[in-house]
Amino acid sequence: MNKDRTEIETESAAKLYQGVCDRFEQTASFIGLDSKVKAIMSQPKAELMIHFPVKMDDGSYTLFKGYRIQHNNLLGPYKGGMRFSPEVSLDEVKGLAMLMTLKCSLAKLPLGGAKGGIKYDPNEHSADENQRITRRFTIALGHNIGPSYDIPAPDMGTNAQSMDWMMDTYHNLYGRKIEDKAVVTGKSIACGGSVGRASATGYGAVYCLAEWAKGKGLSLEGTRFSIQGFGNVGSHAAIKLQELGARLVAVNDHTATLMNPDGIPADELAGYAMEHRGIKGFQPAHEVDEVNEFWALETDFMVLAAMECTVTKENAGLIRTKLIVEGANGPVTPEAENILKENGIAIIPDILANMGGVIVSYFEWVQNRNSEYWNGETVDAKLREKLIAAYQQVERISQEQEISMRNAAYVESLKHLEEVYLKRGVWP
Ligand code: GLU
Repeated sequence: MNKDRTEIETESAAKLYQGVCDRFEQTASFIGLDSKVKAIMSQPKAELMIHFPVKMDDGSYTLFKGYRIQHNNLLGPYKGGMRFSPEVSLDEVKGLAMLMTLKCSLAKLPLGGAKGGIKYDPNEHSADENQRITRRFTIALGHNIGPSYDIPAPDMGTNAQSMDWMMDTYHNLYGRKIEDKAVVTGKSIACGGSVGRASATGYGAVYCLAEWAKGKGLSLEGTRFSIQGFGNVGSHAAIKLQELGARLVAVNDHTATLMNPDGIPADELAGYAMEHRGIKGFQPAHEVDEVNEFWALETDFMVLAAMECTVTKENAGLIRTKLIVEGANGPVTPEAENILKENGIAIIPDILANMGGVIVSYFEWVQNRNSEYWNGETVDAKLREKLIAAYQQVERISQEQEISMRNAAYVESLKHLEEVYLKRGVWP
């Protein structure tokens, strides 16, 4: 059984990487991207793979495999999450690192792109073991991370606690300087995190969705939506959509599929899912056994907030919604995207829809460097401003050039990187 699971995961990581590379190549040809810029961007600048031993609670040692892929740092320090999951693989982090470069460029942040993680399941370890694994990983990374060089953040399987441990380890290892706080973002507020960082990715996806609806003259009041994935991104997106008057009618995660045509209370479900590590068993909603019922349910919007490659050519044809919002990275494969396009379903692509997280990470980094604390209204207003500017730019290019929002987002992002490369030159 384990073997089958590993094979499927490896396949989806390879698909993700291939999908990102294909979309990059297509856009490069479409805009006639400068050949040296294309060559540089087609591979990460550095691929770090490390093995490190950690003492378990029973006194034995386990060897862990960690990754950090630094895709590009033209615009600023490498930036991107650390994923702790048994599914982490080289292809997966390579694909995700490239998406970070594209995302930061599209958001006009002075940051590059990276991704990393450890191939293990944090749910199978005690809090003490997780702490030792995180700290030992930080030690093994050494000076490959740093507040002006490469700044990790939370991703799947990591949270504010993981970032607090990473920051504290780095700080104690390297000089105990005030700027060490900025070595990671997504920390707890007590340890220098930013207000609004935890909700930023989910809220950002909803701000994009609201702009799309506004452009179509639609009100969110009374609309029906479904969500795949109910972790940090999915739960915050659902809560925000509910606040705006929309109704959550179906949720799917790794534990169950729940439905209720009268609406599922998103805030209560968020508390439940956190406590029970999944949505299974939540009332009032009924559980369905067949996941295809989730895909086939007619809704106004579908938010994908689980992981890569969940919408494939096998299930894309079932989907009946107006708009898919990619809160996760790479959830729709290129083949699935063609099917959705034929069926008239619009997509707000990942590098736009989930950029809220890295935008507020940037705000956290700026606050840490200036020893400032901004309040919630300031963070939210600045987040909206950056997101809506990016959204409108993508929408404008999409309409003018009659291309999808995904293609438009790639065009804008790559053109910005190209402009900077051509101005700076490649030296020596
Ligand atoms: N892991 C998040 C992402 O995929 C956030 C990265 C960050 O804040 O640096 O965008």
